[in-house]
Order: sequence, then structure tokens, then C-alpha cells
Amino acid sequence: MENKFDITTLTNSELKDSIQKLGEKPFRAKQISEWLWQKGASSFDEMTSLSKNLREKLELNFKIPAIKIAQIQKSSDGTMKLAFELVDGEFVESVLIPDRDASTEAPNRATACISTQVGCKLGCAFCATGKMKFRRNLTSYEIFRQVVSLKSLANDNFSVDLSNIVLMGMGEPLLNYDNTLDAIDIITSPKGFAMSPRRITLSTIGVPNAIRKLADEKVRFNLAVSIHTATNLKRSALMPFNKTAPLENLAEAVEYFHEKTGSRVTFEYLILKNFNDSLKDAETFAKFCRIVPCKVNIIDYNPTENSQFEKTTPARLRSFAELLEGKNMIVNVRRSRGDDIAAACGQLANKKNN
Ligand code: SF4
Repeated sequence: MENKFDITTLTNSELKDSIQKLGEKPFRAKQISEWLWQKGASSFDEMTSLSKNLREKLELNFKIPAIKIAQIQKSSDGTMKLAFELVDGEFVESVLIPDRDASTEAPNRATACISTQVGCKLGCAFCATGKMKFRRNLTSYEIFRQVVSLKSLANDNFSVDLSNIVLMGMGEPLLNYDNTLDAIDIITSPKGFAMSPRRITLSTIGVPNAIRKLADEKVRFNLAVSIHTATNLKRSALMPFNKTAPLENLAEAVEYFHEKTGSRVTFEYLILKNFNDSLKDAETFAKFCRIVPCKVNIIDYNPTENSQFEKTTPARLRSFAELLEGKNMIVNVRRSRGDDIAAACGQLANKKNN
């Protein structure tokens, strides 16, 4: 097993070369690629359009890293949380969030929230993942395979396809830059699901250098930046990374991103009782948001175990949102989903990894 090569790390042309070296026609590479990336085959045996002989040769020379679904939990609101066991025994979680048509109540959309790292180095005070130790970056294949599983779960349970993907699960995607962008490339390419990048949102705590790099690469997916409070003192208390990259640096990087891509940026604001939910906090945040055309997601807090923070009151949340709307800002208040199974924002942290 040790000497076998991980087939998921080969580019299209490398795969073609390898297949030819095995004495096979190059078009077999395309079939193998479809099995791996579109049909989500987890073994060569499943690749039934290939001859038995070729499947045996593949088995002898290559391996497909095992990614097993270890657990599926379903929330009372329909949200589903999956725990995956990876080849080295680590665990990672992702979430499927169905939405229903307002008039018929039938599911008509499904969003996949996927992870990019096992654990996280950044230790945000409100986040369950941040309380885990950082284990490792996910490979692009491991990121992609979460999408494959959530897509088939959406088909089987809600008879819908994935409408959106958010990279907002465990880990900071921009600290696993290359693998994250490779995974998005596969999701959006014909090799994967040919999904429009406009339906994908990368959510980051705000890593200025990496945001500049995204800008230079003129990425076409959406960028969401977690601001949570627009004063450095409070933000550093909430997100220690702010001491390394304060709001001024982040603002410059976001301005550069908008200048290069022309895209509207989303600012995320996790609202916490008596911490960042006053009208003064809303004024400061609104001022920060003026840097680029943006929309704002206010996220209602889901308390995690032993959390020092509390959910704000509906009245304070409403006043906060109304102040921003009064300044003609585009504001969404995100309902909390799946909190009974710890699948909501900031709650992902598989117990086995703690
Ligand atoms: S919020 Fe994101 S960046 Fe912060 S600790 Fe959690 S996973 Fe890491």
C-alpha cells in the first residue's frame, strides 16, 4: 500500500501519461477522472465502465484516499451534519442546509457548508473549531469529496441539487490557500460539477496577503469577510489574529480586492449580547463598511459549550439591523440553523478531534 501513488493528486495530463504507461488508451484517463471527480468513486472496483484488467492494474499501482462518512445527524429544521473520517483517522465535519419554497413548503434549495482544515490555528473566542488543536490542512480531494457527499445527500433527501457552496466550516480557507483554490477549480470545472463560481462563497477571518493574492488571480467566486466588530481593541479580544492583521490592513486588502475583481464583498457580523450589539457598534461597523460596495450578513450567535458569549435579544438585533438599513445598506439577518445538532456557525468541532 505504501508504494502506491495517490491518484487524486495527478493532473489530467499526468493521469493520461500514467495510463499510457500501463499500456492503455489515453481516453481511459478521462473515464477514470469522471469516476473520481464526478461520480465520487471511492474504489477502482466501482469503475465498472473500465475492464477488469485495467481495474486490477490501477489497484496495483494507485490508491484512492479513503474518506468515510462516520456519522450523519439531522436537525429538527432539516439541516444535516456529516462527520467524515479521513485516511489518517482525523475527522472533519460539513453541513447541508436545505431551504423550502415559501408557498409550497417543498425543499427548493440546498447549501453545502464545507471545511478546509482539521482544527484551526486562529483561536477565535466564539468558535468551537478554534478551541480544537490544529491538526492539518485538507487536501483538495478531501475538500471536494465533502461536496460530492453533500450533493448526493441533497438529491436523496430533498430531491434538489446543491444551489450554493460556502467554505465556512472548520478551518481558515486562506491558510490552506492552494488546496482550497484547487478544490474550487475542480468544483467549477467540467472535470467536477461545472458549477458557477458565483454560487460559491469563500468566508475568511480576513488574511490580508491572501486576499490580495485572490485579487491578483481575479477570482470569480464570492468573498465574505468576518468583521464582527469594527474596533481593533474588541476585534483583537474576539479574534487574536487581528493583532497580526488589524482592521486598517484588512480594509486596504479588501479595497484592493474590489478594485481588481469589481466584485461586491460580503461582511459578516456575528452579533453578541452586550459585546458588539449596541447602536454605537452598528455606527462604527457602518462606517467601516463604506470602504467598498458590500452587503452585510448579521449572524445570530449559537452558544457553544462553556462559551463566554450570549445570544443577543431579538429587539437589539432588530435595532442593529435597522440602523444599517437606514443607511441604505444591504442587510441580511441569518437565521440560526441546525443548532440542536451543533451544526450552526462556529459550532463545528468533532468531539473525536478535541
Ligand atoms: S472562526 Fe474560523 S478562523 Fe476563527 S477559529 Fe473558527 S475556524 Fe478558525
